[in-house]
Amino acid sequence: MIRCGFCGHEYTEEEGIKGCGKCGKPCHSIRCPKCLYENPVEPAVVKKLKEVFGRKS
Ligand SMILES: [Zn+2]
Repeated sequence: MIRCGFCGHEYTEEEGIKGCGKCGKPCHSIRCPKCLYENPVEPAVVKKLKEVFGRKS
């Protein structure tokens, strides 16, 4: 779950709007579906991603 840093609304990654909407490509920000505040992805998710992409050797 991602907790919006602006309005406190809790939402899942699926519910959030992926991408910052500025760079025109998928980026690491997820926007709150309620207020569109741009939240950084949860550290746990980043950790998981690092696990997936960092252990290929
Ligand atoms: Zn919000």
